Amino acid sequence: MVTSQTFQLTSGNYHSTEANQQYFSVSQFKQFNQCSAKAMALLKGEFIRKESSALLVGSYTHAAFDTPEEFSKLLEENQEAIFNRKGDKYADFKTADAMIQTIQDDPFSMFAMEGDKEQIFTAELFGAPWKIKVDSINHSRKTFTDLKTTQSLSKRAWSTKYEMFVSFVEAWDYVLQMAIYRKVIELNTGFTYNPYIVAVTKEDPPDKAVIHFDTERFQFEIDFVEAVMEKMISVKSGEIAPTRCEQCDYCRSTKKLSNSIEMGRLLD
Ligand SMILES: [Zn+2]
Repeated sequence: MVTSQTFQLTSGNYHSTEANQQYFSVSQFKQFNQCSAKAMALLKGEFIRKESSALLVGSYTHAAFDTPEEFSKLLEENQEAIFNRKGDKYADFKTADAMIQTIQDDPFSMFAMEGDKEQIFTAELFGAPWKIKVDSINHSRKTFTDLKTTQSLSKRAWSTKYEMFVSFVEAWDYVLQMAIYRKVIELNTGFTYNPYIVAVTKEDPPDKAVIHFDTERFQFEIDFVEAVMEKMISVKSGEIAPTRCEQCDYCRSTKKLSNSIEMGRLLD
């Protein structure tokens, strides 16, 4: 494992295995929380995540709001995934174009996204180093904004964490993300920034919203993270064996059966 003395976090290596070994991030926290066996397999390079087109569509949508150079670079590097042989974009990217256009045509959404793009911050939190990459941060307004794409603004999902039906914001742990980002930015700047989500849907035509948060929501998330961090640090450092969830893609692909189960346990 590399040490902080030799490893310099940059936008080029932000998503690298070395960076993920060195730092916690919100997505890594979510991985460990869902299945620490998978999180460790990813960190050790024993499990390679399938390149999903959803991931590229996400990067494409984000790059559209970065500089024109960043967007052309992404188009160039992913030409075959984005364009068919006739030179038309694949359906997912046409949908993404409609979503991008929806935001660009809405002055309030564009106002909410004004700021420095893709800024990286690091901080020590709960006994471990963390890294965050902020979609858009506005130092004069003391706000930051994350762009999110979703199926629908009002679709409900059952959440075991909140023990109630929740929107996509809680279902994808975006409140937790905003709480951690807010804390890391606070440790870096000495000021508490207000988070916003600019959400745009994959519907035809797309819906949109600029979402703010009642600040009381954040302490629950910080407590939630703090409560499990000590164990998570021990698992990540190899002191404690990770736990298999037996549900995720990694567990399914490495599962070896040794016994039968009674049918009632299928829904456990
Ligand atoms: Zn698993």
